[in-house]
Amino acid sequence: MKAYDLIARFGEDGQAAKPPTVYRALEFLEKLGLAHRIASISAYVACAEHDGGSAHAAAFLICDCCGATREISGPDQGVIDAAAADAGYAIARTTIEAHGRCGACREAG
Ligand SMILES: [Zn+2]
Ligand SMILES: [Zn+2]
Repeated sequence: MKAYDLIARFGEDGQAAKPPTVYRALEFLEKLGLAHRIASISAYVACAEHDGGSAHAAAFLICDCCGATREISGPDQGVIDAAAADAGYAIARTTIEAHGRCGACREAG
């Protein structure tokens, strides 16, 4: 879901949300692990893998043809955290973006 789609949603009650407000809300949702930001297509998507749990490593399959995105189980966040700790890093979020073509686009040729 693109940020501007969310803005339209937030505006359903007649009160148009201002973009900066929506982005702050999305950042908050991301911190809670309820949404992920996919930087390469400048979009936020609701988390599909967890029922509002903690922050987790997210992995996305992204179709470069039609833009369809699909969340799949990411790598174990604990493994990433351990490797990061060895390097002196504290990881805030992990998002893997795998680009290619979806089944429908591959069938279409
Ligand atoms: Zn997720
Ligand atoms: Zn596609």
